[in-house]
Amino acid sequence: MESTPRHKIPATLIPGDGIGPEVVAATVQVLDALGSPFIWDVQHAGIAGVTHCGDPLPDVTLESVRKNKLALKGPLTTPIGDGFRSSNVRLREEFQLFGNVRPVHTIIPGRYDKIDLVLVRENLGGFYVAHEYYIPVGDDPKAVAVATGVNTRDACARIARFAFEYALKHGRKKITVVHKANILKVLTGLFLDAARDVARDYEGRVEMNDIIVDACAMQLVLNPWQFDMLVCTNLFGDILSDQLAGLVGGLGMAPGANYGTDTAIFEAVHGSAPDIAGKDVANPISLLLASGLMLEHVGKGDLAQRLRTAITQTLNTDHICTRDLKGTASTREFAAAVVRRIEST
Ligand code: ATP
Repeated sequence: MESTPRHKIPATLIPGDGIGPEVVAATVQVLDALGSPFIWDVQHAGIAGVTHCGDPLPDVTLESVRKNKLALKGPLTTPIGDGFRSSNVRLREEFQLFGNVRPVHTIIPGRYDKIDLVLVRENLGGFYVAHEYYIPVGDDPKAVAVATGVNTRDACARIARFAFEYALKHGRKKITVVHKANILKVLTGLFLDAARDVARDYEGRVEMNDIIVDACAMQLVLNPWQFDMLVCTNLFGDILSDQLAGLVGGLGMAPGANYGTDTAIFEAVHGSAPDIAGKDVANPISLLLASGLMLEHVGKGDLAQRLRTAITQTLNTDHICTRDLKGTASTREFAAAVVRRIEST
């Protein structure tokens, strides 16, 4: 049996679909230049899981994550409409990854400078439990569509406490709870109530306020600097985290992390972007930054800082960037430029 080299941390690596293998390769290359602490167990999921193992979430992949309790994952394609259930959602459920964290920072000064925001999203409940069905009427089998959301007080309190603890650990001062308690009074009202209860334990240390999701979306455009951390139900968090990514240059710029009690999976905020897959043009920064969160998670904050510095220098000093940031570098050229920066410091 192969043994793990001393001092290396075993982690599952899922290249994923679409641009996934390209941004994952770029990230592994950059981590290697940093002196990666990880030893990878490469496994497949999504369409790649079907291709390699006949299953969008193969047992061997689940087993690897169960053993390592740590994974870096490329995006997994979920076909719209009928078909298999999202492997992303299934992974979160399987490992009870209840806390999704998406930090965004301005790296390239643009339309919005000095953005420094963290979105925490409840990852397991709400409308993502996917209790959906049709009610047939007459000869139309799909005459009525019904979706049920489920939030439990325990799960709402758990994500709120997670957010407050995150705030304390990272020196954040204010948490804004995002809801729609004026319309979804029960589903998101419970979320708000539970957050208010938890907030009492943090009085004087972390401030809490709340905002209705539509107003939040507008305020994020008008004055995003008023927010420090946002805590959202599952669906609102999904939508607003793309908006946050837009504030700092687009989907290629925002990392994501999914935390459970004993397992963590790190990923890009963006999806598999099939329109640009295989063209060597994808921006790998989102996954690079996600690997930075993974480094912090395993106590290698120094390496994470070197990584972020190298990305910043590549963008702002060397002026090398991919075409989504109005540059001309390919994915590989960008990764090579970040490696050069790492090797020169
Ligand atoms: P999925 O179904 O997996 O969510 P999608 O194409 O619907 O995929 P995203 O992949 O999140 O959604 O991205 C939407 C668009 O944003 C892509 O089609 C692509 O043009 C652009 N995009 C996303 N990620 C990147 C990236 N890393 N670099 C460059 N462009 C990107």
